[in-house]
Amino acid sequence: MHIEKLPRFALAHLPTPLEPLPALSKSLGGPHLLIKRDDQTGLALGGNKTRKLEFIVGQALAEGADTLITAGAAQSNHCRQTAAAAAKAGLRCELILNGTKPEWPEGNLFLDRIFGAQEHWIERRQRAEKFVEVAENLRAQGRKPHIIPVGGSNSVGATGYVVAMIELMDQLRASGERVDHIVFGSSSGGTQAGILVGAKVAGFPGQLHGVSIDKNDPEHLEYEIEVAQIANGCAGYIGTTARFAKDDVKMIYGCAGGGYGVVGELEREAIRLMARSEGILLDPVYAGRAFGGLINLIRQGKFRRDETVLFWHTGGGPALFAYARELLDREGR
Ligand SMILES: *Cc1c(COP(=O)(O)O)cnc(C)c1O
Repeated sequence: MHIEKLPRFALAHLPTPLEPLPALSKSLGGPHLLIKRDDQTGLALGGNKTRKLEFIVGQALAEGADTLITAGAAQSNHCRQTAAAAAKAGLRCELILNGTKPEWPEGNLFLDRIFGAQEHWIERRQRAEKFVEVAENLRAQGRKPHIIPVGGSNSVGATGYVVAMIELMDQLRASGERVDHIVFGSSSGGTQAGILVGAKVAGFPGQLHGVSIDKNDPEHLEYEIEVAQIANGCAGYIGTTARFAKDDVKMIYGCAGGGYGVVGELEREAIRLMARSEGILLDPVYAGRAFGGLINLIRQGKFRRDETVLFWHTGGGPALFAYARELLDREGR
């Protein structure tokens, strides 16, 4: 393994805190709950993309790139953190955003503007061709673009979560704690792929559960295959011989309600419960949904009371401000 030798650009405040959730563990009637605070990675209000971007921006700088191009939804946390990372690295940032351009920017989109990113608005199905078009236009102007896939989910980005698992294992060793299960939101797969590779190289003995935040069914295991592919690419990139197959990828389905970004009762309850018992904010699209999935698993009795479950908080807080109307009732409560 040669992670230490890979190009990396420092962006995150590490290690992120590992904290107990005593009030929540009590109110849910066990198991023992811990939280890994990747909402506190320190870059532009934090989140899981910061760890991926350390390696992606490192690679872009090593190639001599002058512009980062990436894509996402209007409330993409990945786009916001990429815009901030580009600013810090002295690069320009071009964002390909899908959906309708809102009249006034809120949440993450507001922050994209503060960071000076350029926006290209498209329909979701035009994404692939728009990446090519934006990159070609920049090259024609003599610029050197570096393309980052949606969510920063490639072999390079996933490396950030290999490092995160090594970091977690160090924290557990220091505190003498043992974790039986890790639960986190999963969407473009890079986080899960990195955690999977990291669990292998760092010798994590427990189980990993990715909560699908945008799919209700295992569509022909396509997602599991994709995550395994990113994991294999990442294993190659960091120089280990570990290899992964779709059966190594464990997903929890059925939490995606009305689809990506559509707020339902699951997220409303999870966000209030975490906020009111621990003073911690979750977002409605990812962490709130993933934590809602974890609450369901606890209520279904999937964990023993003496087990320890770690919820990996992946960030997303800025999106809260764009969802106030969906999260409160008509009276604004
Ligand atoms: C992007 C994101 C995720 C999902 O991570 P993937 O690597 O895309 O699977 C989870 N939580 C938050 C807050 C995110 O922004």
